[in-house]
Amino acid sequence: MVNCSEITAASILVPQKSGSLSGAYDYTLNPYAGCAFSCSYCYVPKFPNGKHHFSEWGNWVEAKINAPQLLQKERTKIFGSRIFFGSATDPYQYLELKYRLSRRCLEQLYNYKPKKITLHTRSHLVLEDIGLLKSFGDTLGVGISITTDSEDIAREFEPQAPSIARRLELLANLCQAGIRVHVSMAPLLPCHPERLVNLVSPYAQKNLAWRYELSGNK
Ligand code: SF4
Repeated sequence: MVNCSEITAASILVPQKSGSLSGAYDYTLNPYAGCAFSCSYCYVPKFPNGKHHFSEWGNWVEAKINAPQLLQKERTKIFGSRIFFGSATDPYQYLELKYRLSRRCLEQLYNYKPKKITLHTRSHLVLEDIGLLKSFGDTLGVGISITTDSEDIAREFEPQAPSIARRLELLANLCQAGIRVHVSMAPLLPCHPERLVNLVSPYAQKNLAWRYELSGNK
């Protein structure tokens, strides 16, 4: 049972001056703190937040109920900026059905013309906002984590996240809608590598070809 609470955040766009996202992104944006998908390898709980022990990861989520209003307030930062949406939570975990914070944050972002948004998720619920995603055109891309071809392995490491089959369906739907997508295979969990490549290659041909060339397997 996930313990969900509502909080009022002090700010919502976090500047990226150092760390793995700096250089490529100016800000991260997370409408929720915590994540009910409960991946056992998740790096987020390793960063102490003063409220929750890392062993509780997956059991709590805080909905930043003022996130859309904060974006409105911080709108001068948005124009021309590069934003990574969902660096420390899954923005389309199931609580999004109740709060629609990710949807409302995207609506605000659309108003203030960012240069680039990468939205990262494992969840088919993002399809409920497909019209909104399309309205960004090339400005917005969606990253989907597909870490194994085995549903059993996925259940072991990502117990509450949507199945691999649903994520592949999501990938296909986004591609059909003309939305730019990429597949994240990190961390690569135990898998049958060729089968995994075959599953995603209809949608991520370019990068796979590039990786094959790097490893000499043309
Ligand atoms: S979906 Fe992402 S943020 Fe959520 S638990 Fe898994 S790795 Fe962590």
